[in-house]
Amino acid sequence: MRLRPEIAALPPYRQGRPAPADGFKLSSNENPWPPVAAVEAAIAAAASEVHRYPDATALTLRERLAERYGVAVDEVLVGAGSVSLLAQFVLAAAGPGDEVVYSWRSFEAYPGLVTVAGATSVQVPNRPDHGHDLDAMAAAVTDRTRVLIVCSPNNPTGVPVTAEEFERFMARVPSDRLVLLDEAYAEFVRDEASVDGISLIGRHPNLVVLRTFSKAYGLAGVRIGYAIGPVPILDAARATAIPLGVTGVATAGALAALEPANEAELLARVDALAERREALRDALIAQGWEIPAAQGNFVWLPTGDRTVEVAEALFDGGIVARAFPGDGIRVSVGEHESVDVLLRLLGELV
Ligand code: PMP
Repeated sequence: MRLRPEIAALPPYRQGRPAPADGFKLSSNENPWPPVAAVEAAIAAAASEVHRYPDATALTLRERLAERYGVAVDEVLVGAGSVSLLAQFVLAAAGPGDEVVYSWRSFEAYPGLVTVAGATSVQVPNRPDHGHDLDAMAAAVTDRTRVLIVCSPNNPTGVPVTAEEFERFMARVPSDRLVLLDEAYAEFVRDEASVDGISLIGRHPNLVVLRTFSKAYGLAGVRIGYAIGPVPILDAARATAIPLGVTGVATAGALAALEPANEAELLARVDALAERREALRDALIAQGWEIPAAQGNFVWLPTGDRTVEVAEALFDGGIVARAFPGDGIRVSVGEHESVDVLLRLLGELV
């Protein structure tokens, strides 16, 4: 069979192992709470329509988001998770012979998306503090660069990009190169110096901001995310979408999550997770771990050569974390009870 060799060689997207009995799955940066009742009810109600195709443009949801962010409806694009949107944008702008620049290590899906588009990844190493080196990323732009992806806070290291760094970066990147600002964890950010992509909308003709309902809004299972940016770029990304990817069930869940009473409950959970993250990070640092700035719903342990050993010991103790062999371990901030288990295990492993 004549498959594209670079595609056949791609590793499959990794999902975390299931948690052992009485253990905790902290490997996918999921929200530990099940849906609030009203969101679950809205999803169940939408199920009565599943014999019909959805409104794949998700017009009602786009209207709601446009109103919230003070942008036009056509400046909002909804996709089947922000990872789908990332793929759509990369396909819209980069093909064979083109380069896509991003920091590394960052979100595991980026290399695959670039390869699927037929383009070439240019990975710029993170700084020693595990954040993006935006100056080096801007310096990596060549005639072939079509897309630059910035992830803030960065998955898996947790380090955010500051507003000042991002401003300087945008000033250096030519305005005909697409910049994707992946803010999947934006709602968990508490460091006020961090970039807020939404506040920059309308200021750059080449900037698209991506967000998701998977993390803060607890809807990872229905697959829904959104992008905000200039209409011509969004139109191109609409053209690269697989038709009808956004389901009515997902849209109903997202709309319900944005209802004021439901959102207040969801954002109170986000507050609790951000506090839990701070407490976890402080406790790990007190144990002697080096933990970079953490602004997502996860922390990064730069375990280097000990990564597999530490991850296995965590697993044996009931914690599934995401291990990047030779580099580090990402642990999601999950159930309240998981924190004590984690601190006990990591206290013995430091
Ligand atoms: N971007 C980043 C940085 C992520 O970590 C993730 C999820 N792991 C995504 C995008 C994709 O999220 P989703 O497709 O669920 O919206």
